[in-house]
Amino acid sequence: MGWESNQGGEVVIVGAGLAGLSCAAQLEKLKINYTIVEAGTRIGGRATSENVDGYTVDVGFQVYAESYPEGRRLLDYNHLEFQSFYSGIYVQNGPDRADRKLISDPRRYPDAISELIRQRLITTSDLWTLLSVGSKLIYPSGRRRVKEERLADLLGAVEDTTFAGDVLVPFLQAVFLEDVLDTKLDTALFVLKSFLTGNVSVPLRGMSAISEQISRRLSGEIRLNSRVLSISEKKVTLEDGTSISADAVVVATDASSANSLLGWPPCQPGRSVGYFYFKADERPLDHAAVFTPGTRFGPILTVATISDVAPSYSPNNSHLISVSCTANSADNLHHLPTEAVYRELLELFGPSVAEWEEVAAGVIPNALPTEFGPRLLATPDPKLGASIFVCGDYTDTPSINGALYSGRRAAVAAADLLLSGKRHFEPLVGG
Ligand SMILES: Cc1cc2nc3c(=O)[nH]c(=O)nc-3n(C[C@H](O)[C@H](O)[C@H](O)COP(=O)(O)OP(=O)(O)OC[C@H]3O[C@@H](n4cnc5c(N)ncnc54)[C@H](O)[C@@H]3O)c2cc1C
Repeated sequence: MGWESNQGGEVVIVGAGLAGLSCAAQLEKLKINYTIVEAGTRIGGRATSENVDGYTVDVGFQVYAESYPEGRRLLDYNHLEFQSFYSGIYVQNGPDRADRKLISDPRRYPDAISELIRQRLITTSDLWTLLSVGSKLIYPSGRRRVKEERLADLLGAVEDTTFAGDVLVPFLQAVFLEDVLDTKLDTALFVLKSFLTGNVSVPLRGMSAISEQISRRLSGEIRLNSRVLSISEKKVTLEDGTSISADAVVVATDASSANSLLGWPPCQPGRSVGYFYFKADERPLDHAAVFTPGTRFGPILTVATISDVAPSYSPNNSHLISVSCTANSADNLHHLPTEAVYRELLELFGPSVAEWEEVAAGVIPNALPTEFGPRLLATPDPKLGASIFVCGDYTDTPSINGALYSGRRAAVAAADLLLSGKRHFEPLVGG
C-alpha cells in the first residue's frame, strides 16, 4: 500500500462485510495500513443487493433503522438518501382479508390508540400492561428492574393481551427470525428501541449502498475471491496457498467461519430466511408499511410493496413486492417453501396474486447468528491472542449497527497494540 503516513504495522482484515469495512474505516482514520481479504466476489457480506432486470433486490428483506448510533457516526445519510417506511405495521388477526388492519405509531398519529381500542386489538387494561412493560423496554431506570434474560420471559407479562398475540409477537418473530422468541433481552431491547425511535428505511439504491459508501473512503487494498483458510498471530493463509504477513489479524467473518478459523468448537447454526420479489401491476397494500401475517397462517414472515417505500427500486413505475418467509425445515435447512408461500399469498391477497411475476427468490442460510461465539460470551474484548482480534455482528447485536460498531471496536483494539503508548483513544460508546 505504501502510505507515507503509516503509523503502525500492517493489519489484515478477514472479511469485507460491514464489520470488516467499518474496521478498515477506523484504521484508515488512525493511518494504520491494512489489507482486506474477502472470500466472495463482492463486498458488503449479508447486507447486499442485486440488480435484476432493472429492479433493485436486497438479498433478503432488510431495513435500516436511522437511529442506529454507529450508522449515524460512520455513514453519510445525505448521500444514502434513505427512503422510509410508513410508521406502522399491517397485521391480520383472522383468516379474512377484512381482518387486516394498519396499526399506526401513536406518537406520529395521535388517533392510533383510539383506533386500536375501536378495532378491539387492545383493551384499556391491556394498554396499562403494555405501557408498564414498554417503559421497561425504553427507559434505563426501568431496565434496571428487569430481571428476565430472554425476550420471551418479558413478553410472558403481556402474552394474554390480544395486542401481544396479534401484533407484537408476529412482528418480533419476523425481526429475529425465530418461531419461539429466544433472543437475548439486551439484543432485543436495542433493536426494538432503534425501530421505535427513528425512521425505518432503505437506502435509495439498495442495501449495497451502505458498504459501497464506506469502501469509497478506503485506500487500502480489498482482495476479492480470496478465501482465508487459516490464521496465525503473524499471517493469514489463503485457499490458493499464498500467505500474507501481518502485525495484527482481524477476523471479520460470520460466526461459523470465525469458529473454524479460530479453532473454536462448532457454534449453533444461524437462523435462515427465504425471500421472494415479485413485480405486479397492482399493489397488494395501500401503505408503504410492512405486513406481518403471523406464523399461524403459514411460512410468510413479512410482505411489503418495497417500491412504495423506495420507488427507485422499480423501473417504469411498476410495483415491486418483497416477501420474506421461514426457511427452516427438519429435513432440509435450506428449503424454500415455494408452494406454501404461493398458497398463503393467494389466501392473503386473492386471485390477483396469479398475475404476479417472480423477479428473484432465494434462501439465506445463517442470516442471523443464533448466539454469540462461545469465547465471546464471557467478555466483550475483541482481542483473542497477542495480535488476533474479532468483530462481526455475532460479537455485538446481530444487526447492521452491531456489525459496524464491532468493526470499530476491533480496529481500536488493534491500533492500541500497534501504536502502544503513542496515542490516546477516545473511549468507545456502546453500540
Ligand atoms: C436476510 C437478512 C435480513 C436482515 N435484516 C436486517 C435488518 O432488517 N436490520 C439490520 O440491522 N440487520 C439485518 N440483518 C443483519 C445484518 O445484515 C448483519 O448483521 C450484518 O450485515 C453482518 O455483517 P458482518 O460484517 O458482521 O458479517 P457478514 O456480512 O457475514 O460479513 C462477513 C464477510 O466475511 C467473509 N468471509 C467469511 N469467511 C471468510 C474467509 N474464510 N475468508 C475471507 N472472507 C470470509 C464473507 O464472505 C462476508 O463477506 C439481516 C441479515 C440478513 C441476511
